[in-house]
Amino acid sequence: MIIAMQTNASEKQIQAVIDHLVALGFDVLRNTGASQTILGAVGTRVDFDLRELELLDGVRQVHRVSSPYKLAERSFRPEGTVVDLSTRVQIGGKEVVVMAGPGSVESREQIFKAAEIVSRAGAKVLRGCVFKARSSTQAFHGMGEDGLKLLREAADKFGLLVISEVTESSQMEAMMPFVDILQVGARNMQNFHLLRELGRVRKPVLLKRGVAATIDELLLSAEYILSGGNSHVILCERGIRTFDSHTMDIGAIPNAKRLSHLPIAADPSHGAGRRDRAPAMTRAAVAAGADALLIEVHPDPEKALSDGAQSLFPEQFEQVMSECRVIASAIGRTI
Ligand code: PEP
Ligand code: MN
Repeated sequence: MIIAMQTNASEKQIQAVIDHLVALGFDVLRNTGASQTILGAVGTRVDFDLRELELLDGVRQVHRVSSPYKLAERSFRPEGTVVDLSTRVQIGGKEVVVMAGPGSVESREQIFKAAEIVSRAGAKVLRGCVFKARSSTQAFHGMGEDGLKLLREAADKFGLLVISEVTESSQMEAMMPFVDILQVGARNMQNFHLLRELGRVRKPVLLKRGVAATIDELLLSAEYILSGGNSHVILCERGIRTFDSHTMDIGAIPNAKRLSHLPIAADPSHGAGRRDRAPAMTRAAVAAGADALLIEVHPDPEKALSDGAQSLFPEQFEQVMSECRVIASAIGRTI
């Protein structure tokens, strides 16, 4: 941590800051310049509120130098983490893994049709939610546990793996036998109780970035899962809220890769918010280096019970998959 004192800070004020830092367990290095004193504080405390120092008399600015997330930080595993989903499918390697399917599981017929469509086009994982966190109490909230069984059966029939969202820790036990990846939705990115529970299991977790969360906050949330001993974490950029609607932060992909060793997925469906814009976002995500894609595809999007407007028609999905194959090969990857 670097503490820049004000130019007129008195010796007494400087000494008080040094004493404060020492009491907190930091080693302090002092650099006394002609007009300003700079203090360097070296220590292992990360649970530290910088504002405590900013409030001390004579302090001008405080900067954190080391990262507050030790386990998620790139230097923890510089070569990058590869999350094994099965013996043949891994996220974080050369292959860009495609996870696709409807927003929600709606019926046996719908999810089997969706599984057939996405597997034919080259997806490796079937997505489908059974517990839906919806903005409206009137909206469809998912099929619950009955939907889990259908999702698994449909995936198994077409040789796919399964990803589905967990919205409360009480659902985890029921989900474990049926899913290969537990998805944490944007609204739950800072549900620290849920994240801690996910740290106790050994199943891959896809952690979506909250709509107004910084990358640092996303990584601090990942740290909750990692610190419980579950190292199988996949980050996911799913679009953020800015002064414009539906903005996918493509820059989040290289940023997350620079800051963290964890693989990063992109969800262009939620990022674009409409199926006419989703294919462009999908291509951009692959070009930016996404390790996986989470795409909403529905056999009949106009009749979907959730997120129909952003779900691709089957032909659109096939088309974007073939375009993404070209982009992936240009950057030394496969789909
Ligand atoms: C979803 O993937 O269906 C979903 C609800 O996503 P998000 O949490 O990103 O809104
Ligand atoms: Mn959705």
